[in-house]
Amino acid sequence: MRGFAARADVEEVERFLAARVRALPAESVDLLDAIGRVLAGDVRAAVDVPAFARAAMDGYAVRGADSFGASDYDPVPLRVIGEALPGRPFAGRVGAGEAVRIMTGAPLPDGADAVAPAETCDEQDARVAVREAVPPLRHVGARGEDIRAGEVVLRAGRRLRPQDVGLLASLGAASVVCRRRPRVALLMTGDELLPPGHTPEGARIVDSNSLVLRGLAERDGAVIAACEWLPDRPERIRAALLREDADVLLVSGGSSVGQEDHAPHLVAELGSLDFHGVAMRPSSPTGLGRIGDRLVFLLPGNPVSCLCAYEFFAGPTLRALGGRPRAWPHRRARLPLARKIGSMIGRVDYVRVAIEQGRVVPLATSGASILSSTVRAAGAVIVPRGLEGLPEGAEVEVLLYDDAPLTEAAP
Ligand code: AMP
Ligand code: MG
Repeated sequence: MRGFAARADVEEVERFLAARVRALPAESVDLLDAIGRVLAGDVRAAVDVPAFARAAMDGYAVRGADSFGASDYDPVPLRVIGEALPGRPFAGRVGAGEAVRIMTGAPLPDGADAVAPAETCDEQDARVAVREAVPPLRHVGARGEDIRAGEVVLRAGRRLRPQDVGLLASLGAASVVCRRRPRVALLMTGDELLPPGHTPEGARIVDSNSLVLRGLAERDGAVIAACEWLPDRPERIRAALLREDADVLLVSGGSSVGQEDHAPHLVAELGSLDFHGVAMRPSSPTGLGRIGDRLVFLLPGNPVSCLCAYEFFAGPTLRALGGRPRAWPHRRARLPLARKIGSMIGRVDYVRVAIEQGRVVPLATSGASILSSTVRAAGAVIVPRGLEGLPEGAEVEVLLYDDAPLTEAAP
């Protein structure tokens, strides 16, 4: 066993990844599966929506000029020559002195240019008395009022919202071209591990990292291609590192310089180990390498380190592969620190914090092995490399773990 020769700066690793990671190729995605996917190119409308002028109210399709002068005292009588319903247009033409009963969404018949709302009309015996004038175009939705043919409706890089996919359907699309989602294999190493669902027993602990990593990777748009639990045996880890069904391998545990830490040597042997050891806390025994086209993240087994190393390095990579912004996806809050945070120049710290009475409280029991610190925390504060810490009262940015608004209001 030897310690780390030198630790890389967080920014160096980030730069290395930013320079190498490009979005994956595009694929066609059925609209039913498209919500949350990232558009690979701009989408231009091929058609007008709606493709016809339509009634915006229930009432009577008329020639607006016929209704001029209409009032409660002097209603204009028109002859009702038929009916137009959504999907069942009126086939004829509305002439002078004529009206067609029409429902919202029905195509406006030829000859008509306005809709007199039902509440201003009285119909009896195929005649309608219009009590209020409607100028041409009143209560008519123009062809293309929603979308015009030729218009760019969604830009490349857009993460599709439910309403975006609805709009694509209204344009007549059945599928849409999106970035392929990165495939991730989770390799959980450690003789002591039992897969989730087991009861901890004797010296054996239940693996929690695979669930955390799965959730984070899915948050970042990845697909979990595989999850393996591996003993600290080099031949088993070697075989798993050679699997080709993933774009990214997340290896948990055995990432350091201990005698059971095989993954770093194996990655160096099978490909390249580009970084090993990063100047940060937690997660300093993090490694990064490549085997073939696959990126391999060596994440420390300590649960907080594993989460933190994922957030700094694997998260941005998965997002970039899937065409999303690299930036951390957390909501942020700016609040004053209730107590100082200590750090060291030259090291980045990832500090779990609670928010109490609108102030940011660093959590005391926050060692790398204390997963519950991330459960109690509202989020994390990152102390940059150049600072010795952050003083009490300083405004800090909290990366919030939850999407929901803070339950505790800031003062
Ligand atoms: P390692 O990185 O393999 O040296 O492990 C560091 C610490 O994290 C040890 O206490 C391990 O038992 C623990 N650990 C390793 N893997 C996991 C895991 N998948 N889930 C929870 N704890 C783990
Ligand atoms: Mg281990």
